[in-house]
Amino acid sequence: MRMLIAGGAGFIGSHLSEALLARGDEVIAVDNFISGRPENIAHLAEHPRFLFLEQDVTDTLFIDGQLDAVMDLASPASPNDFATIPLEILAVGSTGTRNLLDLAVIKQARFFLASTSEVYGDPLVHPQPESYWGNVSSIGPRSCYDEAKRFSEAITMAYHRVHDVEVRIVRIFNTYGPRMRPDDGRVVGNFISQALRGEPITLYGDGSQTRSFCYVADEVRGLIAVLDGPITGPVNVGNPVEFTMRQLAENIVDLIGSTSEIITVELPAEREGDPMQRCPDISLITSTLGWSPTVALRDGLVPMIEAFRHELSL
Ligand code: NAD
Ligand code: UDP
Repeated sequence: MRMLIAGGAGFIGSHLSEALLARGDEVIAVDNFISGRPENIAHLAEHPRFLFLEQDVTDTLFIDGQLDAVMDLASPASPNDFATIPLEILAVGSTGTRNLLDLAVIKQARFFLASTSEVYGDPLVHPQPESYWGNVSSIGPRSCYDEAKRFSEAITMAYHRVHDVEVRIVRIFNTYGPRMRPDDGRVVGNFISQALRGEPITLYGDGSQTRSFCYVADEVRGLIAVLDGPITGPVNVGNPVEFTMRQLAENIVDLIGSTSEIITVELPAEREGDPMQRCPDISLITSTLGWSPTVALRDGLVPMIEAFRHELSL
């Protein structure tokens, strides 16, 4: 299979590239490095079935040869980015996704969209099944991301209906692991960096808000199961074991043996609308594709802590 991965130099995209290469596929990764990094794919540069194109997917794509799948993972995903580059996020979720859908039409390829649990907003139904329509602000600081992804889902389904493109939509829940950027502001990376440096661990609010964290190897296995499988989706892919942010902080401090104190700070202004709880209902993917996550949070944190220790020279 010949796959194009938009966002292939990002955290999840680079792990996905590796997994597809490992099973014998050819991978063309496209990325403009707005939130990804060349070092995520440096080790793949010499691979005979890997090609990298530095390009912004909001510009028209010209790709030689046939493609079996076009996978759209291109989008900054950290709430810090929502404050600093909201227009780029809206552009990649609208024009970018449309360009990639056009490419899929031309190549008669399957289109795969990496959507997000953020389409559920600050959910009033818990855990969240795919049938839940969400509780989303269209104007708050998170709206650039949430609404861009909701638009991506809508245009993907419109192309499916109008152009008969075969599509797959996954809703990814909080994923963590090596190759996340220590400075990207997402909680697991923040807490590990703070704990390694012996700095205070910053719980926003009282730390009672919850998230459900999926290790990247599990996540990528789930994405590939949906890509290969028969379900259009949307399909939730995440780990349903739920933690408060205080529990996450305590686990990280304990695993590192850190001297860091766990403190509470006011929720930063750009975090307005911070979902209070999030947990995937994964019965659809489990019952239809037999996928479920296998890596417990404490086990998955170990390689991420090691990667951060190395990167931060700590
Ligand atoms: P990431 O920022 O590491 O990866 C996204 C990649 O897309 C980056 O390499 C970035 O440079 C690239 N990109 C962004 N805009 C682009 C553009 N206009 N043209 C070309 N490349 C562009 O983030 P990630 O965590 O790996 O997320 C990957 C995908 O999964 C995103 O679509 C994100 O919305 C989705 N997702 C991730 C999570 C998570 O917990 N990591 C949760 C839900 C959804
Ligand atoms: N968070 C926190 N301290 C931090 C960073 C984040 O308490 O230093 C909280 C944040 O308020 C949110 C949760 O951790 O409730 C997850 O944040 P993240 O940025 O990882 O992603 P989100 O799930 O909000 O998109």
